[in-house]
Amino acid sequence: VSSEDVSSEDVPGEDVSGAGAGAGRGEFAGLAAVVTGGASGIGLATATLLAARGARVACLDLNPGGVPEPLLGIATDVSDDTSVRAGVAAAAEALGGIDVLVNNAGIGAQGTVESNPDDEWHRVFDVNVVGMVRVSRAALPYLRRSAQAAIVNTCSIAAWAGLPNRALYSASKGAVQSLTLAMAADHVREGIRVNCVNPGTVDTPWVRRLLGSADDPAAELAALQARQPTGRLVGAEEVAAAIAYLASPLSGATTGTVLGVDGGMHGLRLRPA
Ligand code: NAD
Repeated sequence: VSSEDVSSEDVPGEDVSGAGAGAGRGEFAGLAAVVTGGASGIGLATATLLAARGARVACLDLNPGGVPEPLLGIATDVSDDTSVRAGVAAAAEALGGIDVLVNNAGIGAQGTVESNPDDEWHRVFDVNVVGMVRVSRAALPYLRRSAQAAIVNTCSIAAWAGLPNRALYSASKGAVQSLTLAMAADHVREGIRVNCVNPGTVDTPWVRRLLGSADDPAAELAALQARQPTGRLVGAEEVAAAIAYLASPLSGATTGTVLGVDGGMHGLRLRPA
């Protein structure tokens, strides 16, 4: 990414041309956002929504090739500290700083404590937990310079519910939830808010891949839908809307919270008859 990717006439709050440019209107006008895992699913929906509401947005992703304009795709592996530092610096240079960080990149894992070997635990925690730590560490110096700094982490219903055959994934998301609260405490007096969302089962390429590998995809889809009190999967754009709220100045008094976007899974516990 070169500085030529963004117009030198880039005036906060006004329309800008060039990579990463948002519409310049809405509650994110003049703000710059970084979304990890921003090339697919929840991350892409979030990046698209933030840009539509005026943000300049960079998507840091392993595979940023398909990221549509005006989003700026930057190849980054959150499990590699050198890659993260380069990706965050490139984003900050192209966007003119960082006001909003959405730590969304994550990978799934199935299994029990008996079936997942140690190296699998290390691999998933390295992406899902330490990945967020690396990106936050690299972005904090930029966020401190923002008057409207916010971090939103994509956690999961798995942090709340005892999901079968998801010991490793659930533990990684439990760590993300605790990390969110601890970071909120550490940075509250610096004016940096930190919150997370806990989605239920969301209709994304990830879930479609899982369904595709099931013995009976239709039965598996029906089971996932029935697990949520609303009786349907969550839309990626519904999670994006929750993330956008927590990232925006509209939630200026909210930090250290966990917002469920889970079709009622956590709050209702039982499926209505
Ligand atoms: P997805 O697979 O559609 O998108 C994930 C993106 O992250 C991909 O673009 C991928 O390339 C990127 N990514 C993966 N590893 C990376 C790495 N090491 N460095 C940089 N980028 C990387 O998945 P999704 O369903 O949109 O999930 C996004 C987040 O939402 C994850 O943190 C996931 O745990 C969480 N989540 C998903 C669901 C769901 O049902 N889909 C539910 C709860 C939480």
